[in-house]
Amino acid sequence: MIGLISATAAGAVARDRLATAWPTRVRVYDGPVGDAVRAAFAECDQLVCFLATGAVVRLVAPLLGDKASDPGVVCVDEAGRFAVSLVGGHGGGANELAREVGELLGAEPVVTTATDSAGVPGLDTLGFPVEGDVAGVSRAMLDGEPVVLEAELSWPLPALPPNVGRPAQQGGTAVVRVSDRAHVPADREVVLRPPSLVVGVGASKGAPVDEILGLVEGTLRDAGLSPKSVAELATVDAKADEPGIVGAAEHLGVPVVTYTAEELAKVEVPNPSDAPLAAVGTPSVAEAAALVRGGELLVPKRKSARADGLPAMATCAVVRRTRRGRLAVVGLGPGARDLLTPRAKEELRSASVLVGLDQYVDQIRDLLRPGTRILESGLGAEEERARTAVAEARRGQAVALIGSGDAGVYAMASPALAEASDDIDVVGVPGVTAALAAGAILGAPLGHDHVSISLSDLHTPWEVIERRVRAAAEADIVVTFYNPRSRGRDWQLPKALAILAGHREPTTPVGVVRNASRPDESSRVTTLGSLDPAIVDMMTVVTVGNTATRQIAGRMVTPRGYRWQEEAN
Ligand code: SAH
Repeated sequence: MIGLISATAAGAVARDRLATAWPTRVRVYDGPVGDAVRAAFAECDQLVCFLATGAVVRLVAPLLGDKASDPGVVCVDEAGRFAVSLVGGHGGGANELAREVGELLGAEPVVTTATDSAGVPGLDTLGFPVEGDVAGVSRAMLDGEPVVLEAELSWPLPALPPNVGRPAQQGGTAVVRVSDRAHVPADREVVLRPPSLVVGVGASKGAPVDEILGLVEGTLRDAGLSPKSVAELATVDAKADEPGIVGAAEHLGVPVVTYTAEELAKVEVPNPSDAPLAAVGTPSVAEAAALVRGGELLVPKRKSARADGLPAMATCAVVRRTRRGRLAVVGLGPGARDLLTPRAKEELRSASVLVGLDQYVDQIRDLLRPGTRILESGLGAEEERARTAVAEARRGQAVALIGSGDAGVYAMASPALAEASDDIDVVGVPGVTAALAAGAILGAPLGHDHVSISLSDLHTPWEVIERRVRAAAEADIVVTFYNPRSRGRDWQLPKALAILAGHREPTTPVGVVRNASRPDESSRVTTLGSLDPAIVDMMTVVTVGNTATRQIAGRMVTPRGYRWQEEAN
């Protein structure tokens, strides 16, 4: 919950804008400001104070405890020009909140935490638990000192600045270690704990939480492994609600993941036995559940020890997962920065490797974190880009493969995914494709059924393209042509338009949009009968209306077919 506190009328107006925008996230604290801040500090995860920073500093200073648990505090000035992340930048999420509040109120976010302001990832924001000298090592990273990266596991990490490198290349006393071993960080060392361990657990009905937890923790301790790297407890479906397992998982702060007995029975394990086969239908629960998604068995099945000498009620086994790389296929939108989605921005900022066409890389270079490896190539190198992106992800990297508009529309997503096997995670980030960017400029040409057709016959035989144009013509569907015309490819557009003209009046509106949302954007609405193909090039999309499309006040409108409107006309 975010507590909102204001003192003045202007503050209250800004406060109410947040309250309206985030009805379920915020709570307004009225009354004397001091009491309101104290109450919100005790009750909320975050505070937004429409007050001077000085006033807030005095009020919260006596309340501050630990930066891991204190709420994040953001101050917004009287004029609503700045959203200042005051305390709890990382742990309390105040930096992110300042950005969100800034976006909503049109205020400039002010973030003074060293790592954020330099675009260097804060070591406590990488999404992994971190131990050790976070402040000292972050400082060294930021100051450009050589920092040693000891990656015991190669796990996908976001880009780290170039002064963080392998020991051979980089001397230095500050160390970033990526490890799941129970290693105690030295001075000037941080240990990042990737979620690399899966603990398989079997339990008889009614096995106590303490017995399971004791077994799991003892097993990890004896094997020299860190509980902070445990990603999940894995077991068989039949034990999904076993209170001891659920309780132990809660205590460890990890989810319980379950598999069917049939799935588990297929896994080859070193220590199968008859008891689980009879009880739940698989010769192994702990080892099989830990191993079912692959990985290395670090600790084979162990049984719990019971002081009273009764038979053990729980078993466990520990597997180190095979690292999974990540491939994000990111659409950059048609060009304008504010048509790039926040999610796309986030993926770009967390990538360690960026793959894309050089002209698209230029579009977003300033958003990349220092240290991002950029693999750019020229037009036509699609195969190379697809293969490179997948190969880097398979090596465990966090890869962003970029494309303009939507990366799935006549772009890199399909060639890349055709190369990708199931050993990497893939996420897609949608982007505003050219047809939509153009549609918004033209008016509402896509108000009814529509298709996109690429006129490039580089990869598609012309007969196929022509058949599709004909089908759209016959079905009276609005058509947007991508790749409509280039210097060496000039007869396809007139041919396609002629096919449409066989089924639509010469007065049918046609919208031509060049460089949508880019600095030299231009557009015009003309008609099927009078379109001059010479004004069309490869930076253009051409949208042809259906038989109902009209020009209204200079805009292209395809009726939605509402009866109330048809009757009025
Ligand atoms: N993935 C892209 C399309 C790539 S195909 C997308 O989703 O938009 C390339 C074609 O897209 C170009 O020839 C042009 O027809 C069209 N295009 C891409 N961006 C454009 C823009 N900003 N304005 C107009 N047309 C654009």
